[in-house]
Amino acid sequence: MDLRILNLTEENLALAARVLRSGGLIGLPTETVYGLAADAANEAAIERIYEAKGRPKFNPLIAHVSDIEMAQREGVFRPEALALVEAHWPGPLTVVVDVAPTGTVSKLARAGLDSVALRIPAHAIPINLVETFGGPLVAPSANPSGKISPTTLDHVMQDMGDKLDLIFNGGTCAAGIESTIIDARGERPALLRPGSLNPDWIEEIWPGLIRPDLNPAAPRSPGQLLRHYAPRAELRLNANAPEPGEAYLGFGPGAATLNLSERGDLDEAAKNLFSMLRELDQNYDRIAVAPIPTHGLGEGINDRLTRAAK
Ligand code: AMP
Ligand code: MG
Repeated sequence: MDLRILNLTEENLALAARVLRSGGLIGLPTETVYGLAADAANEAAIERIYEAKGRPKFNPLIAHVSDIEMAQREGVFRPEALALVEAHWPGPLTVVVDVAPTGTVSKLARAGLDSVALRIPAHAIPINLVETFGGPLVAPSANPSGKISPTTLDHVMQDMGDKLDLIFNGGTCAAGIESTIIDARGERPALLRPGSLNPDWIEEIWPGLIRPDLNPAAPRSPGQLLRHYAPRAELRLNANAPEPGEAYLGFGPGAATLNLSERGDLDEAAKNLFSMLRELDQNYDRIAVAPIPTHGLGEGINDRLTRAAK
């Protein structure tokens, strides 16, 4: 059967909610990357997600919620954590909190942990789908585990087309790299994964951001230890110019095979990162990448590049 591609309509939301209730998998856009959504409370559906992605079961999934009340049914929020999500949701911020007694996200989705990772994406399709469905949906990125995340419908069709029951079309993702993950359980917030929410914006609401060693050898978040976001080609980082035979992924003015942002804009670079890596990966065996500033969103971009180059 051909995979059905849906636009955002009431009928399609109702159809997708029925598919989710029967344990189906749905591809959907968010503002960060495309996700693979399933009923967060349905173990059989969660099994299908780990299977479809080839994702190790020790790596827990993020659950999407549609409002803060739903988030508080799933997790326990200290006042600072609540202030943080009130300021940044909907948006590319994921918080890890203790599971609430009323929580419904399955233990399998949480990889057996007593904590749960929650967010409200800034995108009408996941918000409306969670609302229509009436409960949280797990939604990891819609790519095989360890590979480059998808930022367009085409990427998802190539990577996961045969594993999905339905997919919503949302064009190209606006942010382009995954959410920023904060451990919000302690007295101070801790950065578990830099991502498309600038970490400086966390500080404004809840100061004292701890930056645990983000070194993949000593992960605080189970998913962060892996070689990830990886192209087939070999990557060489912080390269000021290509060597013979290399493609050059540029940043800022100057000659390049593809340029993340000619005007040196980190938002634009984040948006282009995964699709340009995919494009170069199809045509070259070696890719040299220009130095990317490490402040603001540059932290998330450099994190992805470092893991991709492992
Ligand atoms: P993805 O679904 O591919 O965006 O990856 C989700 C990320 O969230 C992974 O790095 C997970 O390890 C992390 N994560 C999910 N749940 C938790 C949790 N309870 N504690 C710490 N990290 C988590
Ligand atoms: Mg992912």
